[in-house]
Amino acid sequence: MFRRLLSFDEAKQLLEQSFSSVPVGEEQVSISDAYDRVLAQDVVSPIDIPPFSRSTVDGYAVKAADTFGASEDKDINLRFCGHVAIGEAPAVTVEEGSAAEIVTGAPLPDGADAVIMVEYTSRQGENIFVRRPVASNTNIMAKGSDILKGETVLKKGRILGSREIGALAAIGLTDVTVYRRPKVAVLSTGGEVVELGTVLPPGKIFDINAHTLSAAVVECGGEAINLGIFPDEKDMLKRALEEALASSDVVLTSGGVSVGPKDFTPQVVDSLGKPGVIISGVAVKPGKPLTIAVVEGKPVFSLPGNPTSSLFMFTVFVRPILLRLAGRTEEEMPKVKAVAAQKMFPARGRRTFTMVNLAYNKDGTLLVSPVSTGLSGAITTMTKADGFVEISEKQQFVDAGTEIDVFLFKKLKKP
Ligand code: AMP
Ligand code: MG
Repeated sequence: MFRRLLSFDEAKQLLEQSFSSVPVGEEQVSISDAYDRVLAQDVVSPIDIPPFSRSTVDGYAVKAADTFGASEDKDINLRFCGHVAIGEAPAVTVEEGSAAEIVTGAPLPDGADAVIMVEYTSRQGENIFVRRPVASNTNIMAKGSDILKGETVLKKGRILGSREIGALAAIGLTDVTVYRRPKVAVLSTGGEVVELGTVLPPGKIFDINAHTLSAAVVECGGEAINLGIFPDEKDMLKRALEEALASSDVVLTSGGVSVGPKDFTPQVVDSLGKPGVIISGVAVKPGKPLTIAVVEGKPVFSLPGNPTSSLFMFTVFVRPILLRLAGRTEEEMPKVKAVAAQKMFPARGRRTFTMVNLAYNKDGTLLVSPVSTGLSGAITTMTKADGFVEISEKQQFVDAGTEIDVFLFKKLKKP
């Protein structure tokens, strides 16, 4: 296992080459469980929608030609020939000179080619008086005019929201084929870390990473499996990792990747199988000790223990891979241009990601400045941030007054 710090770009490139991130598989789900899933196949309609030509108004189904010449001054008299009930096949046929009463949504009876609105008619017994002409097809939604049988309604890759689920329901699908959610095992390490739900013993801290990372996995369309906290002990860690690999598509660990005497994670991960550790440290800040392995085709990301570094490295390195395993396309992170309110420095020789806040000054200029807590161990650094700026390792500093790109964690408020 080598220990050479790769540059950010080298690390990204090596990860792409070492691991092909294609969707992990497909499964059938009921449409009641389909929300936010991704279609793994085109959806083709087995039926016409609407399944029959139907009236879009309340009125009378007629032969359009029978109404030609009708006006307010000179109505045309048609013979009432029956009633078309909604939800049933029509029992009447409209012959020349006749009209069938029809309601919105009811099927157009044979013989009719238009519907005249009840407002333009009056009725006396068996006589219907029509005061306006209608052209053929007026007030009719033709069979298959919304969706034709055999038509592709939704394309593979489409994320299913309420609108898409409506289209599936319209064509009567009870199940759809979607990409399986990648299973992501999440392990925390460190003797000082304890699970939530206890009173903190002296010297201990709550497990933050298992929870931030699990939520981040769900945000990428994955399924997080929290395997718990492991002490800095090689054999236990190895057994836990073997189980994690056997039961998941991706493994995430946090902690134990630095150069402390109990930082065993890289060495244990490397012993799990081939090719083992491919990235052992990246010249970035935060997140320098990031370690990435591939074991029998599955990626193992060993993130730093520091919660901000850990979540940030997830965002930059894990998220794009996970999205693709879930069949999702990696979307551009939203960004805005803002003016540096103060000078900002990168860590020497490292691609530096600085958490920032945005604010408008009096003349409406958007200003960007580092989050005031700035401490690398503070979890609130990321909670307080509006976004981050990326400062190249080749740059000496970003001068106050320069315009730079700010990547946004959340939507920008109006000035
Ligand atoms: P390490 O990378 O194990 O040296 O950890 C770096 C820092 O992150 C230490 O202060 C740890 O106590 C802290 N840390 C490690 N794991 C977690 C975790 N799961 N939740 C919160 N803090 C952690
Ligand atoms: Mg540790």
